[in-house]
Amino acid sequence: MKMLCKHCGKAFEGNTEKFCSDSCFKSHISDISRRSAEAVEGDPGHTQNLSED
Ligand SMILES: [Zn+2]
Repeated sequence: MKMLCKHCGKAFEGNTEKFCSDSCFKSHISDISRRSAEAVEGDPGHTQNLSED
């Protein structure tokens, strides 16, 4: 099954994976952490509504 990496957008053969590689997974997690930190600073009322994009 062809999947698109959620981090770099590259097509890869996968099944349940959302990332083409472990480094993309780790990069994506750190992106989310950074965005969450920024979101908390700018919008403290919505910390409960973080979605797993
Ligand atoms: Zn990737």
